[in-house]
Amino acid sequence: MSKIIAIANQKGGVGKTTTNVNLSACLAVAGKKVLTIDIDPQGNTTSGLGVDKAKVEKSIYDVLINDMDITETIVPTNVENLSIIPSNIQLAGAEIELVSVLSREQRLKFAMEPIKQQYDFILVDCPPSLGLLTINALTAADKVLVPIQCEYYALEGLSQLMNTVKLVQKHLNPSLEVEGVVLTMFDARTNLSIQVVDEVKKYFRSKVYRTIIPRNVRLGEAPSYGLPIILYDPKCTGAEAYTDLAEEVIEATEDEEVI
Ligand code: ADP
Ligand code: MG
Repeated sequence: MSKIIAIANQKGGVGKTTTNVNLSACLAVAGKKVLTIDIDPQGNTTSGLGVDKAKVEKSIYDVLINDMDITETIVPTNVENLSIIPSNIQLAGAEIELVSVLSREQRLKFAMEPIKQQYDFILVDCPPSLGLLTINALTAADKVLVPIQCEYYALEGLSQLMNTVKLVQKHLNPSLEVEGVVLTMFDARTNLSIQVVDEVKKYFRSKVYRTIIPRNVRLGEAPSYGLPIILYDPKCTGAEAYTDLAEEVIEATEDEEVI
């Protein structure tokens, strides 16, 4: 069974793209067939997985706006079992162009229908907003995964995100669930990081993943080589953490399938 996970948080810089790239890659390395879809006009997942944004000819923009067959836009990455639908800067206009398009919230969902059974996991990297691109991802998804940075105001804005999730559940996608919350950029040397973990656990309880992603400079370096951390430096703490997170995500899926 395929599982579609939207990685969303309207705050920028919380680790959405880093989580998307590295969780996708670690799921693929664990033997799962994975597709990642970049719906952020910044295209950081695209370049982070080694695809040159400037040379992308067919992107998720064409799928959402030009009715292009989604299979034409899927390209392989450096990681075995991991493919990507790239984004490019054209997508920046899509938020506005979508407004006048029929079924504007369901474009991605309908487009993915014919391919979704071909993958174990499809991960969608959302832009830092709650606009139509993120709504498309939430409408197409089974689950939403929320990265939260261990920083001041970590919980700020999360009630808006949860409200958006509720609205999507009510009107567009009743089966959408919050898969989990992943704490990112944790620094064990600071009291602040420890306080944020406590606060987020109080708020989200069992939804918080056991795995906490540490602050790790290698995670920041890897994208400039177009590589996920598991290929760039498989022994660093960041690679270990994303491998653990992938295991948790696989476990959760297997538990659901038993039920
Ligand atoms: P978002 O997609 O939510 O905007 P990013 O994943 O792009 O966030 O992360 C923002 C910045 O922080 C990037 O420069 C990224 O390389 C860096 N970063 C993300 N996670 C970590 C981490 N665990 N350790 C160190 N740097 C990180
Ligand atoms: Mg991003």
